[in-house]
Amino acid sequence: MSASAGIAALPKKRRMATQGLAAARKRVTVLGATGSIGLNTLDLIGRHPDLFSVDALTAHRNVAELASLARQHRARLAVIADPDLYADLKVALSGTDIEVAAGPEALVAAACGPAEFVMAGIVGAAGLAPTLAAVRRGADVGLANKECLVCAGDIVMRDVRRFGGALLPVDSEHNAIFQVFDRDRAATVERIILTASGGPFLNMPREAMADVTPDQAVAHPNWSMGAKISVDSATMMNKGLEMIEAWHLFPVQHHQIDVLVHPQSVIHSMVEYVDGSTLAQLGSPDMRTPIASCLAWPERIAAPSQKLDLAAMGQLTFEAPDPVRFPALRLARAAMEAGKGTPTVLNAANEVTVAAFLAGRIGFLRIAGIVETALDRIDAGAPDTIDAIMALDAETRVRTTELLG
Ligand code: NDP
Repeated sequence: MSASAGIAALPKKRRMATQGLAAARKRVTVLGATGSIGLNTLDLIGRHPDLFSVDALTAHRNVAELASLARQHRARLAVIADPDLYADLKVALSGTDIEVAAGPEALVAAACGPAEFVMAGIVGAAGLAPTLAAVRRGADVGLANKECLVCAGDIVMRDVRRFGGALLPVDSEHNAIFQVFDRDRAATVERIILTASGGPFLNMPREAMADVTPDQAVAHPNWSMGAKISVDSATMMNKGLEMIEAWHLFPVQHHQIDVLVHPQSVIHSMVEYVDGSTLAQLGSPDMRTPIASCLAWPERIAAPSQKLDLAAMGQLTFEAPDPVRFPALRLARAAMEAGKGTPTVLNAANEVTVAAFLAGRIGFLRIAGIVETALDRIDAGAPDTIDAIMALDAETRVRTTELLG
């Protein structure tokens, strides 16, 4: 089976007629404004006040930061996902004309506002409903929230095509591929190669991994990111989720997606063509580069990321991933190949186990072990609606929590 039209889902009008960015300020909604992706997005918006303005900002529980960002960026609307925190946010924004709302429906309402661009920066499957709502009103979406493609990629991509907005990959690897993938000659692509830093435990023996702490796992050598994706990088489940994400985004077959460990995180990914040419996108490991590329697409804007000094760097190195020390990659590939509900189970089981690891309830090596057991025991079925996917996600969370013991 080949992936959905993926990259070809870019609206034709946009591919042919490039409008100047400055024609009108682009309104941006940031889902997950208080997180690493959200803050980097707002940093760029703050540097280009002539090009962008903020419509809605959302967070989960961080009222103080959300209120401060909403004031700073003169947001129209601020939404806190936890409904119990409505009153706190209301107080924190008193004396302003910023609208305040709370709860999951309010997140969806934020995504349905008038912004031309929505940054999907919520972590986990919790981002699915608002991201899909933005897609379904034809907004351009910057997709950082890879979990929503992993657990509901067929539906998300179908609706991107149906409703006509662009889905712009924020993940540095997919953004790199997006920049060098010849969309008009997709059949000439032989392979896409996702690079992986290998995370903080790249050279650690497997036995030693049993004792690593959450603090060690979130201390990524190159990237500064939220806790969940940092742990995913340490297990390399992140690269597994990215394989599935890539399969939905780009018109390639499963076997055309490869992973290559590149510890310096300078080459963000590559596309290999039938004639032997391999095109890559390079940059320093700073998410403001891919985010800028999405915010401005199809134009470019200045970003403060450090420019590369390859001479000073001297060398870039590469190695094959180690399937024994990083079993998550194997699990994710198998889930991608199995398709249907299996990636939903993989994602939900991973979210539960990573949260348990961060809370000190289980050791690092049990993350992949429990995910594997969940994949073995849970009947993934073939959910074909969002409700069925969310039901499978919920069932997997319950069953995986039981497996934690
Ligand atoms: P963070 O943990 O830093 O931020 C997550 C954001 O989502 C916060 O604003 C948080 O609010 C909000 N949030 C968390 N849970 C919920 C929920 N249940 N409902 C609504 N909002 C919620 O994550 P990152 O920014 O690191 O990652 C965000 C997404 O982007 C992930 O899918 C990740 O895989 C992806 N990504 C991130 C990269 C990075 O460099 N960080 C790189 C590539 C992809 P609060 O602060 O209130 O908790």
